[in-house]
Amino acid sequence: MIIKKLPLGPIEANTYIIFDENSKEAVVIEASGDAQKIKNELDNLGANLKYILLTHGHFDHVFALNELKELCPDVKAYLNKEDEKLLEHIGVQCGNFGIAGVDVPKIDEFIDENTKLSFAGKEIKPIHTPGHTKGSMCYLIEGELFSGDTLFFEEIGRCDLPGGDFSEIENSIRKKLFTLDKNIVVHPGHSHDTTIAHEIKYNAYFGENSRY
Ligand SMILES: [Zn+2]
Repeated sequence: MIIKKLPLGPIEANTYIIFDENSKEAVVIEASGDAQKIKNELDNLGANLKYILLTHGHFDHVFALNELKELCPDVKAYLNKEDEKLLEHIGVQCGNFGIAGVDVPKIDEFIDENTKLSFAGKEIKPIHTPGHTKGSMCYLIEGELFSGDTLFFEEIGRCDLPGGDFSEIENSIRKKLFTLDKNIVVHPGHSHDTTIAHEIKYNAYFGENSRY
């Protein structure tokens, strides 16, 4: 399994391509910018894209979704229903960051913890982790966790935007993420990777040596 990280879009959110060399299947997590670049990477791998999975409805993670869907018209995009409203207000979200708006991104399917998805014979486990937004999702694929803006290297996602809630993110991280296998590698929506073990120890908010 190959994981490619592409920091793209107006504020460099990470889009990930997960690719299985044997089956040639791929999953894209987020569509943060430059859809043509994402498509070129998929083509260079000879990948057959199965799903586009979105961790939440903030503009910087879905900025290029419509373009990517035009380039890959048969591929479905998934988002948790609780973030549908955020997408409808993508123009306002962009405006708050001084960025020109884009059309409302089109979602094909809503995803929650009961959604069954597989990739190259492996289960994709969707984990609902509200707190940064109500519909925030993490995706676990064979020891690799894609955490969106819920969990970052020694940090957590902000909770002061619409739908954010500190006690919810605390619950999501302590009860749902910190109880996963400690060796799991965490691939966040911004900046660099971490592990569950590292965050249990060093996370600034919920780690053993937390500052707060
Ligand atoms: Zn966000």
